Amino acid sequence: MTDLPGTDRAAEADLGKALRWLVENTDALLADLETYVRLETPSDSKPHLDRGLDWLTGLLTATLGDPESMTRHDGGTYGDTLVADFSGLGSRRLLLLCHYDTVWKAGTLAEWPYAVTGPAATGPGIFDMKTGLILGLWAIRALDAVGLTRPPLRIVLNGDEELGSISSRPTVEAAADGVTAALVLEPGVDGAVKTARKGVGIFRIEVDGVESHAGLDPERGVSAIDEVARIVLHLRSLQDLDRGTSLNVGTVTGGSRTNVIAGQARAMLDVRVTTPAEAARIEAAVTALTPAHEKLTIRVTGGWNRPPMPRTPGIAAMYGLARTIAAGLGEDLRECAAGGGSDANFLAALELPVLDGIGAVGDGAHARGEHILIEPTVARAALVAGLIHVFAL
Ligand SMILES: [Zn+2]
Repeated sequence: MTDLPGTDRAAEADLGKALRWLVENTDALLADLETYVRLETPSDSKPHLDRGLDWLTGLLTATLGDPESMTRHDGGTYGDTLVADFSGLGSRRLLLLCHYDTVWKAGTLAEWPYAVTGPAATGPGIFDMKTGLILGLWAIRALDAVGLTRPPLRIVLNGDEELGSISSRPTVEAAADGVTAALVLEPGVDGAVKTARKGVGIFRIEVDGVESHAGLDPERGVSAIDEVARIVLHLRSLQDLDRGTSLNVGTVTGGSRTNVIAGQARAMLDVRVTTPAEAARIEAAVTALTPAHEKLTIRVTGGWNRPPMPRTPGIAAMYGLARTIAAGLGEDLRECAAGGGSDANFLAALELPVLDGIGAVGDGAHARGEHILIEPTVARAALVAGLIHVFAL
């Protein structure tokens, strides 16, 4: 993080002309966005993801020219991950990270088409995070168009973020190697960037008991449902909201009939934590669950999908840079902590300075009707242009 550009350099950069250029080119930016939204890219359809990534690869090279290197990592049934390096000025390489998958099933577009209404644009995946990717590329175009320098860039596009980056995680983590910092172009929260994120753990707790007839043989059975009920209440007692730790058993299943003492039951637990220490405390407690009866067995599987992202000094420094540049553009950039995780969690855990939530301004991630606000989103592209530019100074 010692290698980050100073805020004084950020304050000097004249981004007014980049902003004006972006405003003048808003229609062309929106045209790219419309094409991209209409190319549906649901996490669970490889043919769609492949078509989407093919189109994006073309847009990438049309924007940045020939890459120094470009590798498309096969994701198997998951979306492929593209890693492309582009040359630039200076020795600080900046990583731009975007996912191109969305939570919306193929065909959603037919009932919910891309549309611009007044100050907003809507469509499946537009907010999370198709706009972030497009605005990142248009930020680069703006720099080139107005003659502002850009540093060496690494662009990573992954196609399974919404599933927890199961296939792309090693590639995303490896991409942190040799870069100075990262911008994660996820949407913000009401225009605020995300300088802390919770870690997310998903655990499956399965209990085997002993079945018996509830009327004829009540003493012989040992109920797996009773045990799961006991465990659920115990898990609730581990919650510590003051430390930002929450636990939720979201689903419980089990048993076969009302007159049978349940032989099996299962609970699915979602855990959110803000610090590695809390992650360790909860994991220890969950894996140490012991049955209340010798004829019961408990199996715990699952684990941490993303580590917590506390507000590290590197994150604070990146926010400081962004704030300074935003001030030059007349914006008071706010920050917030998010309850959900993103790929930024992986990068921050590697101690990379990272700024997340610097993409679209709008609302409604994962909700029907998600939308962006066009004017502040175009202004955000100018901010991203500034953030990229300072790494070349
Ligand atoms: Zn996202």
